[in-house]
Amino acid sequence: MGTILVVAEHLEGKLKAATLNTVAFANAVSAIDGGDVVGLVLGAGAESVAKELAAHCGRVVYVDSPAFKDVLAEAYAPAVADIAKELGATVVAAASTSVGKDYLPRVAATLDGGMISDAIAVFEHDGDVAYKRPVLSGNAIARVKSEADVTCVTVRTTAFEATTGGVSGTVESRSGAATPDNAKFVAFHLVKSDRPELTEASVVVAGGRGLKSAEAFGIIEGLADKLGGAVGASRAAVDSGYAPNDWQVGQTGKIVAPNLYIAVAISGAIQHLAGMKGSKTIVAINKDAEAPIFQVADYGLVADAFNAVPELTSKL
Ligand code: FAD
Repeated sequence: MGTILVVAEHLEGKLKAATLNTVAFANAVSAIDGGDVVGLVLGAGAESVAKELAAHCGRVVYVDSPAFKDVLAEAYAPAVADIAKELGATVVAAASTSVGKDYLPRVAATLDGGMISDAIAVFEHDGDVAYKRPVLSGNAIARVKSEADVTCVTVRTTAFEATTGGVSGTVESRSGAATPDNAKFVAFHLVKSDRPELTEASVVVAGGRGLKSAEAFGIIEGLADKLGGAVGASRAAVDSGYAPNDWQVGQTGKIVAPNLYIAVAISGAIQHLAGMKGSKTIVAINKDAEAPIFQVADYGLVADAFNAVPELTSKL
């Protein structure tokens, strides 16, 4: 029974929702091993983020340093490892985002700990905490246990319902982390959009190669905007230049689990399904009745997207 440390992800003074799913994961671990859940915020002038997190996990350690103005794994990893040691952490958790996946394995290596990626469930095995994680593009679920004293876990956030907060918490402030001399932050290009973030949206409308052009993606965007949703794309659509890279859903794209996922002109390759089959309701629109996407769809419409999508949008 040790500390379960949750490392926060934040941007522009706001806690990322993925952190609250990670707190839910930590609570699930705590329910088995009885450890205390402690939040960790690394930032430069990000006290408000620490306070926000304290309402979810009670105790938060906040380390303020110019080294954390931007997220650099070379700065994050030693700082997380130091706090984990100080608090006697047995589990160090972070969201399985590009940020978490970058620094957390380094923390595991620094602490000579275990590393478990993409945890989707927690369960008890012979009195220990064990984890489930998808393998083979989500076609099999591995049950894994770490024998190390400290285990770093990236958490597939779509698998854990975010905590709702309301806890009266405390923030302990620290300072003085070193800026790494072997790496430099060059630039951060944030895509500004009025649409919700793909991984956090409750509705996602995604288009595939069958749309045949970037202009045709306009019908996907129109439907997404009507539903207040985000826009996604298959890798084939991205590779063909019809959609930007950050819209890609799937094994090598983003993992989403919205309430509603509408797949338009997407065949349903396993690598695409790996990124969206956890969605609560899946609607597929495809002109080929044999398309594999219909095997995972709750509602299927065999139709030409160029007729069906504008009609659906106008009727909505
Ligand atoms: P296609 O398979 O070409 O399907 C197009 C569909 O559109 C067809 O079903 C067709 O019937 C339909 N269609 C055509 N015209 C119309 C119309 N007018 N109206 C309605 N329907 C129409 N893919 C991902 O998506 N995400 C990933 O992260 C990903 N990672 C990968 C990683 C690896 C290592 C590999 C090998 C592949 C990966 N892929 C990924 C690619 C994946 O295997 C598929 O090639 C890709 O998902 C296919 O995209 P698609 O369904 O848009 O295209």
